[in-house]
This record gives sequence, structure tokens and C-alpha cells, in this order.
Amino acid sequence: MSETTPQKFEFQAEIKQLLDIVIHSLYTEKEIFVRELVSNASDALEKLRHVQITEKEIFDDRLELEINITTDDKAKTITFQDFGIGMNRAELIENLGTIAHSGSKAFLKALGEGEKKNTALIGQFGVGFYAAFMVAKVVKVYSHSWRAAEPGQVWTSDGSGSYEIEEISGERRGSKIVIELKDECSEFSQEWRIREILERYSAFVSFPINLNGKRVNTVQALWLRSKSEITEEEYTAFYKFQAHAFDEPLLRLHFSADAPIAINALLFVPKENPEKLGLARAEPAVALYCRKVLIDPKPKNLLPEWLRFLKGVVDSEDLPLNISRETMQDRALVDKLAKVITRRFLKLLDDEAKNRPETYAVFYKEFGVYIKEGAALDATHKDDLLKLLRFESSLTEKGKTTSLADYVSRIAGDQKEIYYLIGPNRESIEAGPYVEGFKARNLEVLYCYESVDEYVMHNVREFDGKKLTAADHADVKLSDLPNLTEGALGKEETGKLVTWMKDALGDRVAGVKASERLVDSPALALNADKFMSPHLRRMMRAMQKDTPEAPLRVELEVNPRHAVIKKLSALTASDPDKAKLVAEQILDNALISAGLLDDTTAMVRRLYKLLETA
Ligand code: ADP
Ligand code: MG
Repeated sequence: MSETTPQKFEFQAEIKQLLDIVIHSLYTEKEIFVRELVSNASDALEKLRHVQITEKEIFDDRLELEINITTDDKAKTITFQDFGIGMNRAELIENLGTIAHSGSKAFLKALGEGEKKNTALIGQFGVGFYAAFMVAKVVKVYSHSWRAAEPGQVWTSDGSGSYEIEEISGERRGSKIVIELKDECSEFSQEWRIREILERYSAFVSFPINLNGKRVNTVQALWLRSKSEITEEEYTAFYKFQAHAFDEPLLRLHFSADAPIAINALLFVPKENPEKLGLARAEPAVALYCRKVLIDPKPKNLLPEWLRFLKGVVDSEDLPLNISRETMQDRALVDKLAKVITRRFLKLLDDEAKNRPETYAVFYKEFGVYIKEGAALDATHKDDLLKLLRFESSLTEKGKTTSLADYVSRIAGDQKEIYYLIGPNRESIEAGPYVEGFKARNLEVLYCYESVDEYVMHNVREFDGKKLTAADHADVKLSDLPNLTEGALGKEETGKLVTWMKDALGDRVAGVKASERLVDSPALALNADKFMSPHLRRMMRAMQKDTPEAPLRVELEVNPRHAVIKKLSALTASDPDKAKLVAEQILDNALISAGLLDDTTAMVRRLYKLLETA
């Protein structure tokens, strides 16, 4: 048969099945066909670049290495043209008519080792082209090989079982794919729609992409360039473009690695934490690319949850993507990717904390809550995350923080705990009765102001062999302080008072005892519940208003050195009724300090009674 008349071919039986899968189930979004055809065009140009190195004679040699896309919303067509390597008749049959045959993969195989490293071919599965049939009534591929002697060809198919090839003249080098759209897919002949798709998936393709004559991709895939060649302005511009951000990045991490998996990553910490403004939980935002082509803008299972504030790009050519590139199948490899990135980022934070503590403090103020979340939940990176935690303490100035390691380094003697207190702010913690006993003994107490702190402390449990311990818990035993007995109630009187108070307060207390920790306050309430701290109890109450709560169990400690307690002791003999009111008031005051007094009406009534007698 002459090659100038159309020749009809049946697709292989397997291709028919494959087409069916591609058209109906491989891709979740029809728009993906744009990404696939642009990727093929880019590959064709990349191959031409290689051919140009070794071959002297190239057909139509003066053409730009660019991709031109045109839409026609009247004719309902879209056309992808590249001036790449093109295909001759045999190549059209082999590449577009054979099952899962990737000409790109074959091309790569044929390259020498040195050249392989320098190519940026995208295709490798040999199915992307068929995505065109999701939206096409008819696909025509006009192609002219880079070899001048090979005539131009047009390949035509409706994707239903056969295709035709016919020789034509007048073609330029490369391929032109004309898609006549199905009626229900006419949106893809709209310029704005295609622009949007190109900006999403193909923004970083190396070759210029023009849509109806206008350049679409103007930002480079910065992550693949070497650090030394990139300016601060370029980084910032890239961040704003890629993350759709308006601020400037606070921190940046740009690295590449070959083992255990090939990665190029460019990550940013923004200036502001949107979750802090009360907005919804952030979605993961580090986009996953494979050779500059977007695979997933928000991969859910790539990085640990607590890294959801990061922006930027991870590109890996080794990705175990399935052929639709949309799902990551090999969990083990994805885990490797996650591990490399997380380690690098933790190292960056550690460096900042050590070498630029002011920058780290700014970061921590905004994003410390994620570090805490990680420390509590990410067992794999817990140790590194614990090192990054910061708290104010009874030994720091207001606004200055300490790390757990620094706390431990200051421990004198055989203290086996790291003490902390939870409270809304420094002032309220220091005004309460709990810190004074620790201060008097030179014991440092960490101050925790955030609602997650309690949860974090419970989960973390210990650091460097020291148990994290709430300073307001009844189990905390403090050593005797010298010189505390001066002017105090005697042992016997104190014993009597304590027994009397337990009796007077009845079920409201689990116990009453003389305190060794109190210095300036008359009394304090210690939480005797192992599992529920005062803070947690408050949160539970706020969340579930109607459920009956667990009865409160507090240990009341009284200060035998304090004037109020001494007076109370005298009052128990002279006016037992009034003494009972005073004892109840002391308990309520202690509960208020502990944040444990829920209903104040009884307290207010009693206070008036006491005032009457004053
Ligand atoms: P892949 O890109 O994964 O190899 P595709 O189904 O997308 O698979 O394409 C199959 C093959 O068809 C490609 O490998 C390539 O050899 C050839 N091909 C597709 N589009 C073009 C094009 N625009 N120019 C030259 N060759 C192309
Ligand atoms: Mg392809």
C-alpha cells in the first residue's frame, strides 16, 4: 500500500483495554490531559536538545524550543504544538499504538551514563498521551521528525479501537496535537480554563509555554538550581508565587540529596501562623513534584502532621508513583522522603536555636505550638523536638525562655524532676501560692501558658531522665526548709488545728496538712487527682457543660507561719462558728488560686456574713 493514502491500524487488544481504563478510571480529573500533553511536548524538546549536541543536520533547525497552545472556543478545539524531536511513521506506530510503550523511557535507556544525569525527561509510563481521549472526540497528531529525510505524518484516532496514519507535506519540525473536544468537555477550549490548569500543573516546566501567543510560565523551578546562583529576591518571589503568599518567608531550607532517595527540596516557614488567628486547621502545603511537573499540591501523607505550616516544593524523580502519578503507592519510599525532609528541617531549627537565638525565638513564638504537637505525638522525632521546646521559668526574665536541657544543666543536687506550672501568664502563676515554696528552695519551675502545654507535658513524660512534674500536684514532696519554724504555731497546736479543719470542711477536702512549702501564703489546694489537673478540668468543663463532673479531690495545705492561720487556731477555741466560716473561706480562696472554684455564690454569701461580724 502506498504511504500517501491513509492506512488504517487496529490498536492492540491490550491498548483497547488500557484506553478504557485511562478514559474511565485512571485519572480523577479530566484536566490532567493538559499536564500530560505539555509534559510530552517538554520531553520532545528536551530530546531535541540532546540530539542537537550530536547531530549536525536537524530539520527546521532555527525553531525556538517552546510549546505553543492554542484554544478555539468556536471550533471547540485545543492544540498543543512543540518544535521538539517529532515522530516518523514507525515511531508514531510504536509510541502511540503499542501498549504502555514509552518512547521516552527507551530514549533514556539509549543515552550514555553522563548524559542521563543531565536530562529532565518526564515521561516513563507510556500512558499519558491517552489521557487526551478523556476529552476528545478525535485526536490528530501532526508530526515531523527531526530527520529531514522523513516525511511528515498525521495520526488520527477517535480512541475507540483503530487509528489511521497518512503522509502529509508542509509540516514543521515537531508535533502538533489537535484535539476536537467532546461536547461535554468544551470548557477546555476556553483560554481562561487552560491558563488556570497550566498555572497549576505546569508552572515550572523548563521550556516556554505560550497560550494563544501569551507566555504562561515565567517562574523558574528554583529548587533545581544551585543555591549560590539564587538571590534573596528570587527566593522571596518564588515563595510568594508558589505559596500564594503575601508575606516574606521567615526561614528557608533549600537542599538536595541523592541517598536514600533523590530529592530536591525548597521549603519555607512563613512569617505568620494562620492557625493562630483562629482560622481552620492548615492543610499540608508542601507540593510534590516529579521532574518539575506537579503531582500533588497538598499531599496528605507526605510529611508528619506537625509540619503542616511548611510551604514549598519537594521534587523527587525516584517517586514510586503509579502510572497516573496521582497516588503514592510505596509507603516505605514515601516514609524515606518524609524522614529526610523532617531531619533536615529539624537540623535547620537546631542551627537557628544555637546560632541565631533571636530568629529562633521569633519562629518559636509563632510556630512553637507545632513543635509541641510534634514532641507529644511524633515518636520518631521526639528527641529532636524536645530539644527545641522553650519555656519561661521562675529563673528567666519575663519574655525570656529556657530549654529543657538548660533547665537540667542548672539542677543542683539530686533533683529527679523537672517542675512546671500551668497558668494563663507569668503574673498569675507568680501571684499564686505554688511557686513560693520552690523559689525558697532554689528549685526552678517552668511556666506554661498555652492550652496545649498540659497535654504535651503529659505525653512527653520525661526529659534526660528527669520526670516532668506538675508543681501543684499533691505527690510533690519538697525537702524541709530551715528557719521556717520561727514564729510559727507549735507542733501540737498545728496538729490540733489540722484535725479540726478536716472535720469542719468534711467532704470538701481529701485531707488537710501543715505545709512545708508555703512561705508567704496562708494556704494552698493541691490537686490529688492523678489524671486530671486543674487546667484540664477547666477545659473539660468548658467543653461539656452538662455532664456531671467527677468530684473534686484536693489536699489543703496550711501555713503554720502565716498570721491568718495563727488567728484561726485561736478562733477555734473562742468562736468555733466563726472559725468554721473562716476555714471554709480559706479553702475557697485556695481553690480560686488553683482555678478550681466553679461556683462562687456560696462563697460570696459567706464572705458577707464574715464582713458583718468584722
Ligand atoms: P510517556 O510520556 O510516559 O513516555 P505517553 O503516553 O505520554 O508516555 O507518550 C508515549 C510516547 O509517545 C512518548 O514516550 C514519546 O515517545 C511519544 N510522544 C508523545 N508525545 C510526543 C510529542 N509531542 N513529540 C514526540 N514524541 C511524543
Ligand atoms: Mg507522557
